[in-house]
Amino acid sequence: MRKKVDVFQQPHYVANFTQAIVNALSPEQRGRLVVGGDGRYFNAEAIQVILKVLVGNGIREVLVGADGILSTPAVSNLIRKSKADGGIVLSASHNPGGPGKDFGIKFNNASGSPAPENITQAIYDQTRSISEYQWADLPELKLEAGSEYTFLDTKIRVVDSVDDYAALMQTLFDFDRIGDAIRSGGLSVCFDGMHAVTGPYARRIFGDLLGVSQDRLWNCDALTDFGGGHPDPNRVYAKTLYDFMMGESATDLGAASDGDGDRNMIMGRGAFVSPSDSLALIAQHHQSIPQFKSGLVGVARSMPTSTALDRVAQHLNISCYETPTGWKFFGNLLDQGLVRLCGEESFGTSGDHVREKDGVWTVLCWLSILADKQVSAQELLAQHWTSFGRSYYCRHDYEGLDADKAQTIIDQLAGAKGKLLGRKMGAMSVADVNVFRYEDPVDGSVSENQGVRVVFDDHSRVVYRLSGTGTDSATLRVYLEQIERDAQNQGADAIVYNESLGQFANDIADIQATTGLSEPTVKT
Ligand code: ZN
Repeated sequence: MRKKVDVFQQPHYVANFTQAIVNALSPEQRGRLVVGGDGRYFNAEAIQVILKVLVGNGIREVLVGADGILSTPAVSNLIRKSKADGGIVLSASHNPGGPGKDFGIKFNNASGSPAPENITQAIYDQTRSISEYQWADLPELKLEAGSEYTFLDTKIRVVDSVDDYAALMQTLFDFDRIGDAIRSGGLSVCFDGMHAVTGPYARRIFGDLLGVSQDRLWNCDALTDFGGGHPDPNRVYAKTLYDFMMGESATDLGAASDGDGDRNMIMGRGAFVSPSDSLALIAQHHQSIPQFKSGLVGVARSMPTSTALDRVAQHLNISCYETPTGWKFFGNLLDQGLVRLCGEESFGTSGDHVREKDGVWTVLCWLSILADKQVSAQELLAQHWTSFGRSYYCRHDYEGLDADKAQTIIDQLAGAKGKLLGRKMGAMSVADVNVFRYEDPVDGSVSENQGVRVVFDDHSRVVYRLSGTGTDSATLRVYLEQIERDAQNQGADAIVYNESLGQFANDIADIQATTGLSEPTVKT
């Protein structure tokens, strides 16, 4: 649940919601819970309330991050490592924090994954009927690493925010090898913590353990308002890093992570690596990453993410799953061992070590690849495109649309196959129009209407998806992917390259006619 922080600051609100989470758990699931957040404004106050409610309910043990701080992947790790029954994450991810800004509370299940829909629905149902909460009248607890408290039937253990996560990373990557490359000057790195939760993780892992100098670890003081910034690692909000990496003094790798540490942006010297390409390159070079030495088995991407990953998977002769947008859809595939690597176009990548996307981990993947291959990220991209073709990828967002009109656009497109088949766009012609439907191969659950795909004869695509429905305004996301196989034409800017496809996408969906917008509000 994500809302303005003022909503959470209302009397009883956090206590009620915490009780709703507990009520949705069976008695056997009330053994051990992990609690931590991204440190944004109101994190500290909310944690104290949550602990009172958990003690009031007789939860046997609660692991809480020092000062209430844990990154989202670190919560996922702690749940798995301590065999907890679940965890409560306080975060609004990449949304701004501070008075009047955003806050959120999320529940993860025993595998460390964001709760699937049956659990979130059960929690929601509880919030509709809740009439009381259990409360232990505790003093304000000092949350220092190593502290332990026992109240009634509950033991509270305060754990260092970084220790367990750093230890996990050291089992997955060759820190000696990466550290040698960095300390010898053969591999230079710059990381932007965006004044968010990954600051302390970056200082420990990139700084102390791998030897990146402190002046290359930017904005690593975690602040409750993220320094007034928007902790979303992309070309717009991590512009300082972007400009630095495009400039004279760029390092070999530049990276940033978001508010709660699950997203990442990756750049090479003079080269922005799109999240879809990053995912495909990690798959291609997985042998450079100790975690994946025994093979990937399978990989997965969200449906709108580019098909670059599919081409690598085909080359590796492994399965590639296409899931609806939302990290929770990877959970079953990972739990069953069907995939070991997954990712989405919205700057999220992770492996089978946790059940969340993982920003710092993705940076370590890239450091492993660069230390092993000893060629630049730009060169790796060029090699990848030559071998597999380049998926020129970008996203056009039409924001603030009337929800009904946005739905009309999707409905019309869904029924437009007959009209659109054979329609030309440059040298390509429309070969298929379909509505994405996902049947989970593990539990058989079905998710309908997950977006409309317009597919061309050369496998290039336009995908349309609605986001933020259920409120009065909606965002129409249009994902543009053009596959360029001619190595001579693979060096262009993706946004420029896809201009005419974006216009085509607007035309065939009647976006201008329906909304009056001839251009998207955001191009990324
Ligand atoms: Zn996030």
